[in-house]
Amino acid sequence: MQHYDMIINGQNCAGDSSLEVINPATGTAFASVARSSEKQVNEAVAAARVAFKPWSQQSSAARKQLCQQLAQAMEDNMAELMQLVTLESGKPLQGLNGIGSGMEVGGAIAWTRYTAELELPVDVVQDDDKTRIEVHRKPLGVVASITPWNWPLMIAIWHVIPALRVGNTVVIKPSEFTPVATTRLVQLANEILPAGVLNIVNGEGDVGAALTSHPDVNKIVFTGSTATGKRIMATASASLKRVTLELGGNDAGIVLPDANISAIVPKLFAACFHNNGQTCAALKRLYVHESQYEDVCQQLAQLAKTVKVGSGLEDGVELGPIQNAKQLAVVQELADSARSDGGRFLAGGEPLAGGGYFFAPTIVADLSDGSRLVDEEPFGPILPVIKYSDVDEVIARANQNDRGLGGSIWSSDIDKATGLAQQLECGTVWVNEHGAIQPNAPFGGIKQSGMGVEFGLYGLEEYTSIQTVKVPKR
Ligand code: NDP
Repeated sequence: MQHYDMIINGQNCAGDSSLEVINPATGTAFASVARSSEKQVNEAVAAARVAFKPWSQQSSAARKQLCQQLAQAMEDNMAELMQLVTLESGKPLQGLNGIGSGMEVGGAIAWTRYTAELELPVDVVQDDDKTRIEVHRKPLGVVASITPWNWPLMIAIWHVIPALRVGNTVVIKPSEFTPVATTRLVQLANEILPAGVLNIVNGEGDVGAALTSHPDVNKIVFTGSTATGKRIMATASASLKRVTLELGGNDAGIVLPDANISAIVPKLFAACFHNNGQTCAALKRLYVHESQYEDVCQQLAQLAKTVKVGSGLEDGVELGPIQNAKQLAVVQELADSARSDGGRFLAGGEPLAGGGYFFAPTIVADLSDGSRLVDEEPFGPILPVIKYSDVDEVIARANQNDRGLGGSIWSSDIDKATGLAQQLECGTVWVNEHGAIQPNAPFGGIKQSGMGVEFGLYGLEEYTSIQTVKVPKR
């Protein structure tokens, strides 16, 4: 079994104990990583602090070039990274609609290349014969990055690259369930970056807590559950650390009466079920007008029954296992509660036999708001399809949820759909697609889905503070 050390200050660090990493397709360990104690968290933050000054003083062009070199290193090691992502997360190498480890590693490369090219130039807000006032963007210092298990490598890149690009140093703590691809990424990065610029510590939530409460950390970027996000924000307040929180959602999709059903059902299915529904901006509540309700339900059920589920390493597999046993239990519990609420199961509803954390892709009709499966984020391969009759009323129902990450409207009338989409209370809205994110478009949640945005210039700014420089001319 391959073992991975942590990397602190450019050096391998064995730690005092280790963590086994489970392949969710088999339920057995395939690798292990060194586990951090508080001592190593302190060492990692200290290394990042020492590295901060020289790194932040490097030219922007030099940092850009090093980020591009890292993108190249990922490309050169793409096959290995894809394999590791599949082994630890369960997602197939290719996956439903091409959404698998290939997309994850390819996306990580694309995001790195795009973000590397961004600049935050000095903004001159006044320049007259009396005064010149410039607004500079300065790096914050040491950034703590806490990442989840659903898209481990891509989310690591979303945190690390903008932080480094503008001159911060980073200590990353991946999810205990998926630390391997990120550790390999940090190994590759440490062949390129100066020592201490990017460090990794591994462990469970207590290691994350030690990192995010560390007094010498200036900013926390976190992707994960709302409950943990709130704990982190409370901890951060002690020393007023900046936070960016991406906390998942319970995204609604609304199919209008005029939608062309046969054209959109495969897209709806992929928007809901890619990566087994374990994507923050997956479509998780599907509202369909009564005129086409039964038709949509039956077509979705047909796809759920025929989609290929299996080990992500096998050719042609579209959906893998759920990533961990705890999440499988959440999905099972929500399926049980949907059953007792009178949900009509059109496909799935049970775990699949054999090893691993497999659950049959599940379509549940005839539930409404107020059922747990509708109100809560299942983060798994189970979709409630909800009937509505009035468009204004359904917008209000979609907005009643306490989450606000994404939402979508599906219609043949693009103008009408665009207007309605803007009535949804969430950070991103889509028309006739859902969850399609890209590196130049800001992405983030409102309400209980988080705070701040990632990606593009808006995301880059979150890793800086403003320094206003006012100089009189006479
Ligand atoms: P958590 O929020 O518990 O975990 C996310 C990350 O935070 C992990 O790296 C975790 O470490 C770390 N962590 C846990 N506790 C602390 C703490 N006190 N301080 C600092 N870091 C901490 O999510 P779960 O894995 O438990 O997933 C539960 C739910 O979260 C899912 O059902 C889903 O709804 C949501 N989720 C949302 C994601 C998104 O993309 N927004 C991604 C994943 C989950 P460790 O795992 O080692 O405990």
